[in-house]
Amino acid sequence: MGLKAVCPGSFDPITNGHLDIVERAAQLFPGVVVAVLENPSKRPLFSLEERVNLIRAAVKHLKNVEVECFSGLLIDFTRRIGSNLIVKGLRAISDFEIEFQMALNNKRMAPEVETIFMMTKNEYSFLSSSMVKEIIQFGGDVRGLVPPGVEAALKQKYGL
Ligand code: ADP
Repeated sequence: MGLKAVCPGSFDPITNGHLDIVERAAQLFPGVVVAVLENPSKRPLFSLEERVNLIRAAVKHLKNVEVECFSGLLIDFTRRIGSNLIVKGLRAISDFEIEFQMALNNKRMAPEVETIFMMTKNEYSFLSSSMVKEIIQFGGDVRGLVPPGVEAALKQKYGL
């Protein structure tokens, strides 16, 4: 294939769980595009620009990783950049149902696009962006769960 793998998500904000998947994808494929979903209906804590900048800082050490944003269908974005590969992370069983549904719908619309899944690292299996926001808001420690720049940005958002 020799192509770029697309790692999509809302990344509000990026966590070490996301980063682990991106790092592993970057070792397996010639290039990785982290695709940040602009989804205003989700009312994100961080603006699209802030999310993109936080990811760019977190993946600076990965030379074959780019960060782009998209809206609309993921398969349209994937096709537009000339890729046919989506890479996603899977956490606990709860992820499975929705990911299965999304992968099958994408397959129906774009049979040439393959979605592959990587199991999360043990220590990140219960980690999500929403958990991190919940913890930090009430004074909990998120070190080790998010890149340092994200921790600083969260503290600033919540005035901590
Ligand atoms: P969230 O589900 O935390 O809101 P996203 O919508 O940004 O995150 O998720 C994008 C992708 O990253 C999904 O495939 C999701 O399963 C994966 N992902 C999220 N958190 C983790 C984690 N801790 N470990 C592995 N993959 C993860």
